[in-house]
Amino acid sequence: MNKKVLVFAESKGSVLRQVSLEALSLGKQIAGQGELIAAAFGSGADGYVEALGQHGANQVWTLSDDRYNRYHSDLYFHAFVQVIQETNPDVIIVGHTANMKDVAPRIASRFGYGLITDCTGVEFEGEEPIYIRPIYAGKAFEKKRFTSSGAMFITIRPNNFKVEPSPTLPATVPFQAEPVDLQTVIREIVLKSTGAIDLAEAKIVVSGGRGVKHPDGFEPLQELASVLGGAVGASRGACDEGYCDYGLQIGQTGKVVTPDLYIACGISGAIQHVAGMSNSKVIVAINKDPEAPIFQIADYGIVGDLFEIVPLLTAEFKKK
Ligand code: FAD
Repeated sequence: MNKKVLVFAESKGSVLRQVSLEALSLGKQIAGQGELIAAAFGSGADGYVEALGQHGANQVWTLSDDRYNRYHSDLYFHAFVQVIQETNPDVIIVGHTANMKDVAPRIASRFGYGLITDCTGVEFEGEEPIYIRPIYAGKAFEKKRFTSSGAMFITIRPNNFKVEPSPTLPATVPFQAEPVDLQTVIREIVLKSTGAIDLAEAKIVVSGGRGVKHPDGFEPLQELASVLGGAVGASRGACDEGYCDYGLQIGQTGKVVTPDLYIACGISGAIQHVAGMSNSKVIVAINKDPEAPIFQIADYGIVGDLFEIVPLLTAEFKKK
């Protein structure tokens, strides 16, 4: 294999997203002896060069401009187009994040590239990568290959590809964005706090459902999550009841998570919820109802009252 792979190094605030490193590790595998290029935007871009080099990037294109600190559809699209025109990659890899889900189809359409989204795995037939992605809300998987000419564009689901350090000394290529005629202007940003740890990338998620019965019912879950260094999520049932913000919703119409450990508390396990968490590596369900469907997909099930069990778990983990 001798491919030129371009990875977009996405950041949140001033922190490089974990999925960017996962994308680089996959990129390294696909590039083989070829080139692995990363692109980073925003005033913190230069600060990411070392970390990107540690994960195999030979070249890092940096757009150090504070207008790019927050995602803007038009600005990112045009800057991305610029990097692609300059680097002419064979393969483009980005995280399957809210921002990249917005910009990736625009870019693929602009260049006429094929696009395979939400990949959770890759296998090789000879040198050809075959991409694996979930379908039917995670009930089945399909394997896809590119038949189109032009670059192969893929988005990868966070937490599904191993990060493999591969230290290099990358060349930094600073560039300026060409002036853009903006179609949209951001007037206001309303930030909702969904916790310090990004739910989509969290290694441990403690989730609450309608069974928490009250906004205060999330407190024991928050305590458990903080002891475990995880994030708190929710079912739509809990969000609809007003127990928590919709930013926490996991499922078909919420966030998709793939943590190492998912603890579902007072969640029945409706198909729409399961669609967002069924690929978690270990699932623990706590529910009063032994017939709750969540037990069908759980690796460990605890039949009981979450208000008794969650504090017991927290106390045990605190001892560790
Ligand atoms: P319930 O189904 O009411 O379950 C509550 C559970 O808590 C019960 O199993 C009960 O036994 C248990 N319980 C109660 N008290 C306790 C206690 N003290 N201790 C332990 N257990 C207790 N849902 C999502 O989650 N995410 C989505 O993205 C989503 N998208 C949807 C999209 C569409 C188009 C539709 C139609 C629905 C969608 N839903 C989604 C809703 C979904 O169908 C369910 O209604 C929802 O997931 C139910 O939430 P729940 O499990 O919290 O509530």
